[in-house]
Amino acid sequence: DHAGNLDTFATMYDPVMNPYSPDRLTLMTDLREAIRRNELSLHLQPQRHLESGLVSGFEALVRWPHGRRGPIPPDEFIPVAERTGLIRPLTRWVLDEALRFCERLNEVDDSLTVSINISAVNLRDPEFIRDVLNLLDAHRMAATRLKLEVTETAAMEEPLRSLAVLSELRDHGISLSIDDFGTGHSSLSYLRRLPVDEIKIDRSFVMYMDANEGDATIVRATVNLCHDLGYQVVAEGVETQSVLDQLTAMGCDGAQGYYLSAPLPEDQLLEWLEQHHRGKQLLHQKTRRAT
Ligand code: C2E
Ligand code: MG
Ligand code: MG
Ligand code: MG
Repeated sequence: DHAGNLDTFATMYDPVMNPYSPDRLTLMTDLREAIRRNELSLHLQPQRHLESGLVSGFEALVRWPHGRRGPIPPDEFIPVAERTGLIRPLTRWVLDEALRFCERLNEVDDSLTVSINISAVNLRDPEFIRDVLNLLDAHRMAATRLKLEVTETAAMEEPLRSLAVLSELRDHGISLSIDDFGTGHSSLSYLRRLPVDEIKIDRSFVMYMDANEGDATIVRATVNLCHDLGYQVVAEGVETQSVLDQLTAMGCDGAQGYYLSAPLPEDQLLEWLEQHHRGKQLLHQKTRRAT
């Protein structure tokens, strides 16, 4: 059904895109076809709650295994999707897949959350809120299990409109996180007005914080500031045990990164969860129910 909108969207949008750039045009055409033929896939990366050591949820990251060119990274095709309007069916597809996966997860743990990345374009789409609510409904999923990640830069585009859309989503129980925090130019006074639950510290500050005192200082200060403002804090790009230890000592709430697990296809992720966390998680659920 969402494929129906593709032609209109792809041709209507983007006065800036150079129509003579054959590379970009091919990428756009290929992406449109890939969405239509259901050739995209979703990888999921676990997030760990640091105090309990338990998995708290997953971030969904889109993958495009391009037939001729091999895998194309999202940093390359997401901007094209944003400029051509293809981001709308793409986000809808990601959300649908992520919620379907979440339904499957219910057998393991029905409290795990799923985060998806959304673009500024989605926040300007008048049908976005309705799409999200319809998909939650279709998958019989509680809104509280869905987190939407938006970069601070995206949230700063058309701030009033973003504020309105994010507030309405939040009123429905959906959680919001600010992604790549520290890399944009958002003002804290504006951010503070957004109905945000969680801040994700960009991996550039986290990856080498065990070797770089400046980075460690930035992360510590961000954790404290965000806590004072009432936000949960998740660190991205955790690649070593020593960074994980440091974050735990700082009181950071959550962690995500290769050290815990790379983003994995659905079946591999369920295996990973089985091996690393299922016993612990079930035990924890039992204790929770007993108390
Ligand atoms: P992001 O949302 O900040 O996602 C985190 C990125 O860091 C992912 O890259 C992930 O694979 C990578 N990563 C995770 N752990 C580590 C680590 O320990 N070290 C390092 N160096 N990297 C790590 P990926 O999957 O290539 O995605 C890049 C960006 O593309 C995402 O950044 C997000 O902004 C965008 N993106 C991905 N999927 C979607 C999507 O479905 N919709 C939209 N709108 N954007 C997406
Ligand atoms: Mg993200
Ligand atoms: Mg990020
Ligand atoms: Mg990013």
